[in-house]
Formats: sequence, C-alpha cells, structure tokens
Amino acid sequence: MSNLIYPTTNFKATETLTMERGDGAYVYDNEGNQYLEALAGLWCTSLGYNNRELIDAAAEQMGQLSFSHMFGGKTHQVGMDLADKLTAMLPVENAKVFFGNSGSDANDSQIKMLRYYNNAIGKPEKFKIIARERSYHGVTLAAACLTGLHANHTYFDLPFDALGILRTDAPHYYRGALPGESEEQFVDRIVNNLEQLILKEGANTIAAFIAEPITGASGVIVPPKGYYQKVQAVLNKYDILFWADEVITGFGRTGNDFGCTTVGIEKPDMMSMAKQLSSAYMPISAAAIRGDMYEAMIEPSAAVGAFGHGFTYSGHPVASAVALKTLEIYERDNIFGHAATIGEYMQKRMAEFRDHPLVGEVRGAGMVGAVEMVANKKTGEAFNNGAAGAFAVQACQNHGMITRAVAGNSLAFCPPLIVNEAQIDEMIEKLGKALDETL
Ligand code: PLP
Repeated sequence: MSNLIYPTTNFKATETLTMERGDGAYVYDNEGNQYLEALAGLWCTSLGYNNRELIDAAAEQMGQLSFSHMFGGKTHQVGMDLADKLTAMLPVENAKVFFGNSGSDANDSQIKMLRYYNNAIGKPEKFKIIARERSYHGVTLAAACLTGLHANHTYFDLPFDALGILRTDAPHYYRGALPGESEEQFVDRIVNNLEQLILKEGANTIAAFIAEPITGASGVIVPPKGYYQKVQAVLNKYDILFWADEVITGFGRTGNDFGCTTVGIEKPDMMSMAKQLSSAYMPISAAAIRGDMYEAMIEPSAAVGAFGHGFTYSGHPVASAVALKTLEIYERDNIFGHAATIGEYMQKRMAEFRDHPLVGEVRGAGMVGAVEMVANKKTGEAFNNGAAGAFAVQACQNHGMITRAVAGNSLAFCPPLIVNEAQIDEMIEKLGKALDETL
C-alpha cells in the first residue's frame, strides 16, 4: 500500500487497478490491459484521451504564461476569452462567471455569491437553500451539505443548519412512487411537498433551489415529464432562484448543450460547471450567475474594499487555455450533435436490458445512463447492500470495461462523447456478459 489517503474509498479496500495511459475512448493499466472507459473517467473525459490539440493548448500556454492570478482586476486574455465564449453558450441571462478548480468549489462559490447578493439587496434573512434527497453536489463542507447521500454525511458532523440547507424529495418515480401512483400523481405529490416546505420555512428565508437536471453520482435519476415545469412554477411563485448543477450534465452530455435544455428549464438563474468544461485535461470550474445579480454586488463590494472570495487558481491560464480549446472543439466538430445521435443509439441499446432477469430499471438521457440491479425483478425489491454493484463492476473490468456502481446497485454509463456506434455495441456486449455473471 502507498501512503495515499484515497478519495471516496472504503479504507479497508486494497488498491485494485494501476492506470498508466489512455488513448481515445480507451485506458490501459500497468500490465498493458485495455479497457473501454465507459464512465469517461468520472463523467468528465468528454473528448477522450491523448487529444493532441488539448495537449498542445496546455503546453503552449505553459510556455507563454504558466501562471497569473486574477485578484484585484489583474487579468489575462485567455481567461477573458474563456469567460466570453462560455457565457455566450449559457441559458443564464446576461451571465457572469466566476472560475475555480472543482465542481465542489463552484457550488461553495455559488452559496457565497447567493449570500452576498441577498445581503446586497437588503434581504439577509433569505439565505436558505433547498436541495434534494439523493443528489450529489460535491464534498467540501458546504457542497457536502447540499449533497443528499448518506456516505457523504456520516461522521462528518456537517453544518446543515448554519448553512440553512433544507431537503426535499428526489424525483425518482421507480423508487419513490406510492403503490398505484401514476407518474403525474407522483410529481404532483412531491412538488406539493416542496411547496409545503417553502410555506413552513417562510419563502422570505429561502434563496434558491439546487438540482442536477439529471443526477449522476446518485444513480442517474431522470425525472418524469413535467417535474421541472411544476417545480419552476412553485419557485417563481415564491421568488426562489433555480440553481442548476450542470457539473455532469453540461456540454452535450444529455443530448443537448445543457441538461437544463433536455429537461425543459429555460432560464436557470445560476449554473455550476466543471468536468467536461475542459474535458478533464485540467481542473477548472465555473459558477455562472445572472447579470443583474452581479450588478447588485458591485456597490457592496466597493464599500467593503473587495468581493472577498477567490482562489489562487481562479482563472488559471493553463486551465483556461485548455477549456477554451475544448469549447472550440465542441463547436467546430459538432460534438454535441454527434453526442445527441450516439446518445439515442446508446439509450436504445441500453433499453434491451429491461428484460434481463437482474435488471429493475434502465434509465438515462443522451449519453448518460444506468441499469439498476434488483433482488426481485417482479417486486422491484432492492438489494440491501452494494455487493451486486461491486461484483458487476469487477465483472465489467474483467471483460475490459471501466464503469462504476452508483447508489449501491446501479451501474452507470457515461462514455466519452466521441465514441462511435461500434464502441457503444462493445459497451453493451460487455455489460451483457457482466450482468449474466452477476445473476
Ligand atoms: N456537482 C455534481 C453534479 C457532480 O457530479 C460533482 C462530481 O461528481 C460535483 C458537483 C463535485 O465536483 P468535484 O468532484 O469536481 O468537486
């Protein structure tokens, strides 16, 4: 064992796989075994591995200006170009963007901007945030409070109350519906629960509602049709902002430019991004807010002397150069269009597993999906631990494919956006073998 403390790892587990290199949609371990990277790393390597243009963009920027901070208005062209190109793509009105290094810190920055903004407009009591069960928003102290997963909370004594984090239902019909409830009734019930929560807490105390348009790490939950429209109507009624966490769903993943578009949210007020922003060649995140929210913070920041929030690496020039090149490639090569086409094929092929005796639900949109394995297909009885998930992940690995178990016994699929139909076929064939062996 090395001296590493591994992230998101059972410390009893031993080291399993030592990765050495990657090329296109494939990665290779230190024994030369090839694996199809069916989770795009951690939902992030959209343009695959060993992309020469991204490598060159990083190398050139390192040679030119390897670092320059952005405190106090000191800036650099590549950072400004990235901000302009990115905000021009976003559905957030007159978006302004703050750069960081990870999805978690983007969400922390959003919480702080929300508080700053509400103080600026004379509503300091409006600071609470509604987050959902079975959501994943990261692991820094504040982002972990937003996250709605047991393992990210237990033993950490998180400051939920101090941060004003409220919790509402996950929109997962398969697991959350009452007996005999239709999808529409389910949506109406959980949206009513949301409204009751707002009324109980007082709308004047609630700043925002955060959601991944389609969740990732918590099991790839695709809400029933109409869910977000009804949520949005409630939020509008009580003057609560819609904050989209697009860390996974951003940049073509769900069959459209952003997950918001896929699920019918027209104008989110805030949007968090990371991962595919740079195809994971460099760590970078972006926290976008509406232009008028930024405007409201100008005078207060001048009065204090500074908007006192920023990272050494906010707008890091090398990360900016790589992200800018990534966005250029998305546009030039119509990567989102390709992903939409391949995504339809992927969903069609994944749906074939609906009849598999081990599979309770197949769900997904575009190029992200999951199969949930169940103890009893007829009743939907869940496995009560993650053993099936762990077994199936290992079986996939034995067949030369990397994936991850999410929410215990669901296998997640999120290949690089550049894969072709033959590689989807390869993914399906390997998944089929792994499921048969898990049965
Ligand atoms: N938000 C979402 C929706 C995510 O899926 C993730 C990571 O998977 C995060 C935030 C946290 O991002 P990071 O791991 O870069 O901190």
